[in-house]
Amino acid sequence: MTDSSCLFCKIAAREIPSDIVRESDRLVAFRDTDPQASTHILIIPKEHVRSIAEIEEGHGDMLADVAQAAAQLAQAEGIAESGWRLVTNVGPDAGQSVFHLHFHLLGGRPMAWPPG
Ligand code: AMP
Repeated sequence: MTDSSCLFCKIAAREIPSDIVRESDRLVAFRDTDPQASTHILIIPKEHVRSIAEIEEGHGDMLADVAQAAAQLAQAEGIAESGWRLVTNVGPDAGQSVFHLHFHLLGGRPMAWPPG
């Protein structure tokens, strides 16, 4: 299922150009256009899901793929040892601006905790 008005569905369908670094049956990963760290990659399911709050039974394999892709991308980016963060925002207080589930893979600099 895709949403024809969704920016990330269009990126996944390659209707809008982006810097795609990985693609599989279920996922696409591409570089964020406003990077917040030297590595800032967005990992998305091809299926249109608005956020992690809308995960349902049947999404388990997709979420496992996300975790595996994040670890493999961290290795490829050279940040596996220095450390990385995988973040998904839900709703206004968290700052979600695109309503297609995405995971920010961030690394390459020290990060504060708690996040701002
Ligand atoms: P969020 O605020 O968690 O919803 O994250 C949305 C992210 O999408 C932001 O970090 C944006 O910089 C990023 N973004 C928006 N449009 C694009 C695009 N066309 N290609 C890549 N990243 C984008």
